[in-house]
Amino acid sequence: MNFKEHIRVIPDFPQPGIRFKDITTLLQNGPVYREAIDQMKALIKDKQIDVIAGPEARGFVIGAPLAYSLGVGFIPIRKSGKLPGETIEADYALEYGKDKLAMHKDAIKPGQKVLIADDLLATGGTIQTSIDLINQLGGEVVGAAFLIELSYLDGRSKFNGIDVVSLVQY
Ligand code: IMP
Repeated sequence: MNFKEHIRVIPDFPQPGIRFKDITTLLQNGPVYREAIDQMKALIKDKQIDVIAGPEARGFVIGAPLAYSLGVGFIPIRKSGKLPGETIEADYALEYGKDKLAMHKDAIKPGQKVLIADDLLATGGTIQTSIDLINQLGGEVVGAAFLIELSYLDGRSKFNGIDVVSLVQY
């Protein structure tokens, strides 16, 4: 399957100079979306995973179906102010901005093996912050899985020792 045919590239969004990879065109095609999740599942099949965590919002669209198909729990990593319970928070820088991520304090039990899932790896800032939060809660990040990796930004070099897999590379 050539997934790139189903990913729309939109120039100058959300800022001039950014070539935004729009996965809505892939998601709206049922068989292609299912094949993408199935192939991502195959990429992580040898891992021991207790839970999957994904940053809002596109991390939900990838992480939740992966968690469902593996029969493990899904943990949302959200922007500050969205989670109703007690949270921990951390700052992060994006390819094109800055924000704060949060997790519920009781989202992860100490020692749980966590796979992080997201739609796209750019600079790696989002995932670095997610790893920090998960580590603070006592979780062990056993890998990170992405639909898309922007290889030219070399985000994966930020995660020494953490296995990074991606379905489509640019
Ligand atoms: P990073 O933190 O620099 O790795 O940026 C990754 C985050 O930004 C992911 O959560 C993506 O959803 C989002 N992102 C950055 N660039 C793009 C893009 O071209 N298309 C879709 N999402 C993007």
